[in-house]
Amino acid sequence: MSTQGSVLALGKCLACLEFMLFPVWRGIGASSSISWSQEWSRCLKWEFDSRDGGPRIPVFDYPIWFVFCRGGRARIREVYQRGRGAIRLPTDIFDIHQVPKVFREDGIISGYRHPRSSALDCILSSFQMNNETINIWTHFLPTWYFLWRFFLLGSTMDFLSDSYAWPLLVYMLLICVYPFTSCCAHIFSTMSPESRHICYFFDYGALSLYSLGCAISYGFYVMPDCWVNSWIQQHFIPIAIGNSLLCTSMSCYSRFVELQFPQRSKALRTGAFVVPFLFDTVPLFYRVLLSCWGSCSLGEALSNHCYHLLFAFLTCFLFTAHLPERLAPGRFDYFGHSHQLFHVSAVVGTHFQMEGVLADMSSRRQWLQTHGLAPSFLSTFGALVLSFVLNLGIIAVFSALLLWKPRPSCGQQHAPTCGCKEQ
Ligand SMILES: [Zn+2]
Repeated sequence: MSTQGSVLALGKCLACLEFMLFPVWRGIGASSSISWSQEWSRCLKWEFDSRDGGPRIPVFDYPIWFVFCRGGRARIREVYQRGRGAIRLPTDIFDIHQVPKVFREDGIISGYRHPRSSALDCILSSFQMNNETINIWTHFLPTWYFLWRFFLLGSTMDFLSDSYAWPLLVYMLLICVYPFTSCCAHIFSTMSPESRHICYFFDYGALSLYSLGCAISYGFYVMPDCWVNSWIQQHFIPIAIGNSLLCTSMSCYSRFVELQFPQRSKALRTGAFVVPFLFDTVPLFYRVLLSCWGSCSLGEALSNHCYHLLFAFLTCFLFTAHLPERLAPGRFDYFGHSHQLFHVSAVVGTHFQMEGVLADMSSRRQWLQTHGLAPSFLSTFGALVLSFVLNLGIIAVFSALLLWKPRPSCGQQHAPTCGCKEQ
C-alpha cells in the first residue's frame, strides 16, 4: 500500500470511530473563564472532505493543546471532573493591596498568590500564571540544563580518582544546587510570611555556597600564572569560606530590616553578594588585564569569562534597578519584570562561566599539574562541607530568631512577620 493510501486508510478509520476526539483548549488568557468543559463546542472530529475523500486539516489561529483519548467525550469529561477535584488548581490571584506588605514587590501590582497557601497549592501554582510562575521556571529548567552538563562531564571524566577534577566537581554540584534552591524558594514562598523569609534564607545560603564553588574552581584553574603558589592562592579558599558566611549573614539579616528600611536592606543584600563576587573575580580581572596589555588575544577561556563578567554586571544592575517594572508598574507583573530577567541573566552568565572554567581546566592542565598546588580533599570537599554546615547554622539561627520573635498584632503594618491582610 502506498504512503498516501495508508494515510487515507488511517483517516477513514479515525473517522469511523466516535471515541477518537481532539478536544481543544484555547489556553490561559484566551478568556477569563476558560475551561475544558466550556470548550466542548470546539471538540473536533477527524473529518473527511466529501469531495476528494482526504482528511480535512483544521487551521487554528490561537495556541492549542491536543489530548488524544480513547474512550470519547464522556470519558474525557469524567477524567476532567475527577482531575479538577483531585488537583484543586489554586485559582485565587490577588492584587498588591490584598496581600501583606512582606509579600509585595516593587512595581508588581497584580498576580499575587494567596499568602497562606498550602504546600500543594504552592506546587500547583507553578502551572498557573501568576507573578512567580516565570521566576520558578527560569531557574527550574536551567537546573536540568546544568545537571545534564554535569552528567555529560561525569561520563568523560574520572571525578572520583582524578583529584585535578575535584574543584570542577564541587563547582558543577553548586551550579546545579543554586538554581534549584531558588526555584523551591519561589515555589514555597507564599505559605506564610515566616516561610517566605526562611525560603529566601536558603536561597541566599545556596548563592553564597555557589560563590565558594566559584572560588574553589578559580583558585585552581583560573589563577594567573604569576599568582600560582603565591600567598593569595594558598589563602584564597579560606577567605572565600569567610566571604560565604558573611554573605549569608548579611543577606539573611537584610530581610529583618526590609520593611522598616528598604534602601538599607537592598544595599546590605546587594553588598552581601557583590563582596564575594569581587573577591572571586580578582584573579580573573588580573588575567584579563595582563592579556590586554600583552597579546590582546583573550583566547577561548578568557572570552567566555568576559561574557560571564558582562552578564554578572547585567545581573547586578537588574537586581538593584527594578527595571522595567519601576517605569511602568503593573505592565510587567507576569512577563518581563526585573526578577525574571535577573534569573535569566544569572543563568546565562553561569553558563559562560562554566565554559570558561572548563576551557581553563583542560587547556592549562599540564602546566598547572607541573607548577601548581594539587587540589586536596580538604581544600575542595572539606571546604564545601565546612561552609555548608556553617551556612546551615547561620540559617538556623536567623530562622529561630524569626520564629521565636513575639508575634506583632495585625495593626502593626510594618512588622515583617505580620501575616494579616491589609485590605
Ligand atoms: Zn529569584
